[in-house]
Amino acid sequence: MATFRFEALKAASNRPPVAVSEIGKKSEIFGSNVFNDKAMRQHLTPEAYKAVRSAMDQGIKIDRKMADYIALGMKEWAMTKGVTHYTHWFQPLTGTTAEKHDAFFETSFDGSDPVEKFGGSQLVQQEPDASSFPNGGIRNTFEARGYTAWDPTSPAFIFGTTLCIPTVFVSYTGEALDNKAPLLRALSAIDEAATEVAKFFDKNVKKVTPTLGWEQEYFLIDDALAASRPDILQTGRTLLGHVSAKGQQLEDHYFGSIPTRVLNYMRDLENECMLLGIPVKTRHNEVAPNQFELAPIFEETNLAVDHNSLLMDVMQKVGERHHFKVLFHEKPFKGVNGSGKHNNWSLATDTGVNLLAPGKTPNSNLQFLTFFINTIKAVSNYEELLRASIASASNDHRLGANEAPPAIISIFIGQQLTKVLEELEGVSTGKLSPEEKTDLKLNVVGKIPDVLLDNTDRNRTSPFAFTGNKFEFRAVGSTANCATSMTTLNSIVAKQLIDFRKEVEALVEKDGLKKDEAIFNVLREYIKETKDILFEGDGYSKEWEEEAARRGLSNHKTTPAALKAKVSKKAFDLFAELNVMNHTEVESRYEIELEDYIKKVQIEGRVLGDIVRNHIIPTAFKYQNLLIENIKGLKDIFGDSYEELAAEQILILKKTSMHVNELNAKLHAMMDARKEANSLNSVEKMAHAYCDNVKPYFDEIRYHADKLELMVDNELWTLTKYRELLFTR
Ligand code: ADP
Ligand code: MG
Repeated sequence: MATFRFEALKAASNRPPVAVSEIGKKSEIFGSNVFNDKAMRQHLTPEAYKAVRSAMDQGIKIDRKMADYIALGMKEWAMTKGVTHYTHWFQPLTGTTAEKHDAFFETSFDGSDPVEKFGGSQLVQQEPDASSFPNGGIRNTFEARGYTAWDPTSPAFIFGTTLCIPTVFVSYTGEALDNKAPLLRALSAIDEAATEVAKFFDKNVKKVTPTLGWEQEYFLIDDALAASRPDILQTGRTLLGHVSAKGQQLEDHYFGSIPTRVLNYMRDLENECMLLGIPVKTRHNEVAPNQFELAPIFEETNLAVDHNSLLMDVMQKVGERHHFKVLFHEKPFKGVNGSGKHNNWSLATDTGVNLLAPGKTPNSNLQFLTFFINTIKAVSNYEELLRASIASASNDHRLGANEAPPAIISIFIGQQLTKVLEELEGVSTGKLSPEEKTDLKLNVVGKIPDVLLDNTDRNRTSPFAFTGNKFEFRAVGSTANCATSMTTLNSIVAKQLIDFRKEVEALVEKDGLKKDEAIFNVLREYIKETKDILFEGDGYSKEWEEEAARRGLSNHKTTPAALKAKVSKKAFDLFAELNVMNHTEVESRYEIELEDYIKKVQIEGRVLGDIVRNHIIPTAFKYQNLLIENIKGLKDIFGDSYEELAAEQILILKKTSMHVNELNAKLHAMMDARKEANSLNSVEKMAHAYCDNVKPYFDEIRYHADKLELMVDNELWTLTKYRELLFTR
């Protein structure tokens, strides 16, 4: 009997919900473990407080002496909450977060004068051993040093008994070794570019802040069941397993009642989020069984990115308390929906205006249209780069798999705005007559309703949809660090806004157009140029793939193919012009992402091989022995007529042999392909070899293993089955 599987099932089905104690009203506990404005006012001197604020709001540098005062206040605050350690918290290019804890505690060398210490230098800069983080060739072994530097725009927080200080991670030669540094540079680029354009409409705008509201999808699996599956444990997804008879076809999970065990997990998680100042707001079931979603109130992008990374850590840790393993993988199960992380994005001014929300006056609507159309233009120009920003081995399973956005980037804008664009396309060239201007303002721009009815939820098949007052980038994967897609999106829009401003100013200066005439003229041309990126139809359909090909849109279905756009001249130029990343930084990221891809597929291949060798084939043999015994017995008793009586057994015996033979053959072929891939001398070639020559064996191997699962005695089968993983509550 498959003891391990049945023990796990027993443990999982007897698991009582873990009680959660309420820790107070959400509004009262919110942010109480964050060194936020309130805590800073309480624990910092007025000068120190002012220094942090101006660093946060205007990017003004904090000097060392002031840093000492800030550190002192931070330590005091933290110690009132039982904190003993501190860490610089950063996001190396592994995509996860990293930390190295140091105690506040210090003594002199002879053990006297024990004291808790934390000074400006510890706050501002640390040196983790950078050599063990990926750097894509930025550092050779001689200068394997990088340092983490405090990012005062994202407040310090307490997790457990550790004070965590959000930091950037850079090499001593100045290159960014993390995801945060380029993001901060992109945010600053778009702030500058968008502020200049916003000033066309309102002179008082001094700052534009990109906003991000992510929606995190995930699966919850009992941890005993997860541990019974070597594939889930090592790759985060099932590499094998026959789809269960009941899947998501009844659609009885979506928005259904949340099971108690899960609800308790969510409540516990929300409490933790509240303490950490992560403003989570909605929770619900998703389409697939055991799939859920959590979304916060949107925030400034840097903070939102940090919060998402932190959340993913916290989700796993809270999961442990409730005996859940959280699966963030984009496609943990075949045949049921995968998970994404929609990135809702917009631009907010310091005057309190959402630049992507229609307003109440023709002027504010023209402002809206300006930012709306420029975003479309940016995506149209850089669709391939945007696609590259979400490429990963795990997201490949989702994009284009007929349930998630396709690998083609297009934009959905809805009927009402489509009509507005059509009308704007007819604007005259050059100066506009007073009648035309009035007509435009009153009947076109002025008529945009401030609630766009068809834009909230209509087209779920679009990878990039306008949803009324924001764009929703839906193709982002659930495991992704939002920094990568947000760096790209904000960079391409920044670049576009810079170009737009130049074009408008040229028309004003050279052709003597009025500013609004110039804006109408430039927007008209953009509308003409960007038609191919707009698509309102079914993004999952075959017809769209064909249509998109005719339009010349890219359709890169695999990571190695998609990533190439990152090292195009266009991408190098873009990031260099905006000072977001230099040539080395872009190139090193490309290399790291290819390496990551290779490793992921390599690990999957090995795990698959192990499972087939150690679980599937031996189980098939055991079952064959049962059949053989049975057939022999029938022969003993019935003599020659046994063949008729044992027909079915003989057939199954033959079939299992066939599948075992096929499994063996494919395994060997996969191993050969792996060896060949490993012998290649460039990461690019290796990634393509893993993608094109190794990975296709996964499905072939799976086919035979899953067939065996259907035939073999359930009692013998060692791998926990889909129905058990998906429906045990
Ligand atoms: P759906 O699941 O239908 O896509 P949700 O209401 O779950 O929609 O998610 C909407 C998300 O968009 C939330 O995370 C919300 O905070 C975010 N959001 C709303 N307005 C903005 C904005 N101006 N900028 C960025 N994100 C926003
Ligand atoms: Mg959404």
